[in-house]
Amino acid sequence: MPAATGGRWGRFWEQRARQLQRQVQAKEEWIVDLETENAVLHLRLAQYQGAAGQSGSASAGLCSPCGPRARLPRSPHAALLRLCPVIQALKQDVKALHASFLEVFRNFWDHLQTGLSEVAEGVQRAQLQHQALLSWRSKAGHLERCLQEADSRYQLEKQRRKVLHNRLVELKGNIRVHCRIRPLLPFDEEPEDPASQNSSVPAEVVHAVDDETVLVKCDRAAHPPINNTYSFERVYGPAESQQAVFGDVRPLLTSLLDGYNVCIMAYGQTGCGKSYTMLGPQSTGEPVPPWEPHSDLGVLPRAAGELFRLISENPSRSLKVDVSIVEVYNNDIFDLLAKDGRTAASGPKREALTAQEAKPEVCLLTREPVHSAAEFMALAAGSLQLRAELATSVHANSSRSHLIITVTLTTAPARGSPGARHPRAAEQQANGPWPEGSRRSASGGRAWPGALGAQRPAEQVHAKLQLVDLAGSECVGVSGVTGSALRETSFINRSLAALADVLGALAERRGHVPYRNSKLTHFLQDVLGGDAKLLVILCVSPCRKHVAETLRCLGFGARARQVQRGQARGGSPAPRKPR
Ligand code: ADP
Ligand code: MG
Repeated sequence: MPAATGGRWGRFWEQRARQLQRQVQAKEEWIVDLETENAVLHLRLAQYQGAAGQSGSASAGLCSPCGPRARLPRSPHAALLRLCPVIQALKQDVKALHASFLEVFRNFWDHLQTGLSEVAEGVQRAQLQHQALLSWRSKAGHLERCLQEADSRYQLEKQRRKVLHNRLVELKGNIRVHCRIRPLLPFDEEPEDPASQNSSVPAEVVHAVDDETVLVKCDRAAHPPINNTYSFERVYGPAESQQAVFGDVRPLLTSLLDGYNVCIMAYGQTGCGKSYTMLGPQSTGEPVPPWEPHSDLGVLPRAAGELFRLISENPSRSLKVDVSIVEVYNNDIFDLLAKDGRTAASGPKREALTAQEAKPEVCLLTREPVHSAAEFMALAAGSLQLRAELATSVHANSSRSHLIITVTLTTAPARGSPGARHPRAAEQQANGPWPEGSRRSASGGRAWPGALGAQRPAEQVHAKLQLVDLAGSECVGVSGVTGSALRETSFINRSLAALADVLGALAERRGHVPYRNSKLTHFLQDVLGGDAKLLVILCVSPCRKHVAETLRCLGFGARARQVQRGQARGGSPAPRKPR
């Protein structure tokens, strides 16, 4: 029972008691008036009686000499006779007054009794209501606790489901796909668009429904309405930080140290936050120390910091870190770390090689050893300045190439290993033609299937990490590019289409997967079709004007999730053990 009802009753009884009190007071005043009147009448009666006594004695004095009849004067007697009915009337009045006083008092008493019993009933009812209130309160508390328990059980089950789903994804060899929706930015404004002038039309059409679901909801003139949802392993809303994104990348670095090959790739339209996510806002500036926790650092500097932190936790493993950086520009691969023949725009051209075809005589990529996160970032920052960029109408620093940073972890061989005894043999083991799965480390694990790096003799590859910042897919009409930039755009779009074709073929388990249709897919062949832990971060813009590209990007992600690698070529996936 709500407390308000108890309060209402309390007020009612208080008013009733006041009313009765006023009535009693009025009656008391009336009684006092009557008593006063009574007293006045008594007084007058006494005066009359006194006057009558005097007149009697006077008449006696007068009567004694003349006899009783002659002694009684006529006037006092007449006065007495006149007074008698008055006195009678007064007596009647007093009686009536007394009776009415008694009546009033009885009424008052009855009212008082009724009021008191009503008050008592009210108090009893209020007590019952209070008890009911207490019992409701305790029931509500109980239900609240049940709800909390159910909620925590739900969270636990959700977490378990996530873990099991992850495990399933891992076992099936699926590609993990995350989606990041960037916030609306000043350059998203479209003053010439009449729809944007209308404040009732929302500018944001892409929403994170929860941490696994994206909703695209958009009504555009002359277009059918869009109301599509997509599910991914993780969805980041516009407010989610770089730290949150890296929180889901960090476990992959532990896997890297455990000996798994890892690839993290950012995919999406130009200007939707791929470079921001992978490199951070200072992607081409001075390296910022990766241990700065509150900055906007992207995946690369955070991964560099985490990698060296994990290595320092177990120095007995004596892992060495080498870095190579390439860009795929206009369907050519350029080594951004090569010292020889470097042009202002980019490094020398290199060929894409895969595990099956790497030859020792082919000019291999430069691999720079690094010993700290700061050294790594300085090297990366130098290379990033060489990367091809262009200002488009979508984005002032549109990357025109796919950037691939490869981190190779190597261990020194055990004493007396073939590599140590015969450096030439070791070199052949490192660079020679490798039938898939044949290249194994001294500890028995399988080495990185991508052979894009010369191994130093007598070293064993422990695992490789590839960070890929793809060039943005782009609608020529929207980006407004012309001339050589248009040619670049065409190469970018073709390589991304080739990537989608490869994923399509893998998802459908076709016998032939068209890796060689582009240098990008050829370069990434071992990552896409192999057993590396591959994470694709789809970056999308929330704007209505980019909705067509966003749908294409989300469709790409949905297709990538269908891929079950290792089975596309007919066989079951090779069992993979961490080293
Ligand atoms: P892309 O590499 O996909 O072409 P960028 O990463 O260069 O796009 O991002 C384009 C612009 O948007 C940059 O100015 C970047 O700082 C900004 N941006 C992208 N994502 C975010 C985000 N999540 N939060 C804040 N700004 C962002
Ligand atoms: Mg970019």
